[in-house]
Amino acid sequence: MPICWLLSVEGNHKPIRLPHLQTVVLGRGPETTIKDKKCSRQQVELQAECNKGYVKVKQLGLNPTSIDSVAVGKGNVVKMKPGQQLRIVNRLYQYTLEFKEDPSGLHGATKKQRQPTSEDKDSHTESQSMKAAKQTDRVSVPVSHREATKTSEHVGHWNQGLKASMQDPQMQVYKDDVVVVIKDKYPKARYHWLVLPWQTISSLKALRDEHCGLVKHMQRVADQMIQQCPDVNLLRFRKGYHAIPSMSHVHLHVISQDFDSPCLKTKKHWNSFTTGYFIESHDIIQMLETNGEVTVKEGIIELLKQRLSCHMCPTELATIPSLKEHLKSHFP
Ligand code: AMP
Ligand code: ZN
Repeated sequence: MPICWLLSVEGNHKPIRLPHLQTVVLGRGPETTIKDKKCSRQQVELQAECNKGYVKVKQLGLNPTSIDSVAVGKGNVVKMKPGQQLRIVNRLYQYTLEFKEDPSGLHGATKKQRQPTSEDKDSHTESQSMKAAKQTDRVSVPVSHREATKTSEHVGHWNQGLKASMQDPQMQVYKDDVVVVIKDKYPKARYHWLVLPWQTISSLKALRDEHCGLVKHMQRVADQMIQQCPDVNLLRFRKGYHAIPSMSHVHLHVISQDFDSPCLKTKKHWNSFTTGYFIESHDIIQMLETNGEVTVKEGIIELLKQRLSCHMCPTELATIPSLKEHLKSHFP
């Protein structure tokens, strides 16, 4: 039987398991991190019917609990399904549901300035020609998540840019209750997506064994993205993380290996995707399963200074333009 999880859209805390047919009462308190006095300590009673794929939501508190903006009403019981959004009180504190088949516990979420831009940080800015990069438009993967809401996080600093992009429907190409996929704003190849969890996790360093299910889900979604790509049979793809990311909010890169993009401009860009600085998704999963955390080798940043070397053959190149010229032989 599937296991039901209640996920905080704002990522305020770990997912809460809703055991089959057991009542779980939630409200103000440490479990939800809700401190709002308008929220009763016993605001809602939840009962999952895991075999049927829904949860019965009963409003216990005085102030309104709602599902998809419709008030439940004190004492009333309303069925909630995955894809719907529960707001605990006064349209605040949003939650979604996830039912996961695997009973092993490894699934889904376990218990769970003109300011410089991110590209200035890499000492280059977006050019018009970037827009010519062959990136797919929206894909026809089902979108089950309701409109995402802004996190309460500060989104002003350049390194917070992913938080804004992940909420932007124009950037989203896929979303479900757990993750969103966006187009990389400065794609370094014909196809370059980022898979991000809704849950706020700042970086690889914050990942623990309890995130295994989440990271596996991110990888599955990445595979799905690759499979729906019209050039899947022509190009090779890799899925991985930068050892030391520049942007906050953990993100999985899904990138085609042509590196045919005007946004790829520097040795640092090249080496960040083609050396050990790019850590494969399955290696991250393995680290989490084995050590319960992700460790990055000391001095890994030195890889970014490495001489330019083709990732397809033993050729070494002196400059980025000559590398790009060389890549045409591999990816006409
Ligand atoms: P990194 O943090 O090094 O793993 O990579 C961050 C990635 O995010 C880079 O590939 C950037 O091109 C991309 N990026 C930077 N700013 C944004 C943004 N606001 N929206 C989407 N992608 C971005
Ligand atoms: Zn080559």
